[in-house]
Amino acid sequence: MMRSVEQVRAAHCDSKTAYPNRFQAKFEADKASDRTGELIRAYRCVFCPEHFHIGHPPTYERLEELAWAARRHAQGEELPS
Ligand SMILES: [Zn+2]
Repeated sequence: MMRSVEQVRAAHCDSKTAYPNRFQAKFEADKASDRTGELIRAYRCVFCPEHFHIGHPPTYERLEELAWAARRHAQGEELPS
């Protein structure tokens, strides 16, 4: 069962730090990569284009779900109540 747009957005954004620009996000991503030895990237938030997050590259399924939710979020779709 697919989650609602708001559930997907909240799961994606609320636990992550929002960086105001790519430079700062990239700096933090590189530090985290060095610390963990894992690939961690900086990327523009799919829901709020004015900020950036850092994280592991998503799986294909996760990417599909994010794209679906971001498209509806951008269209201002009403959330199921
Ligand atoms: Zn976000």
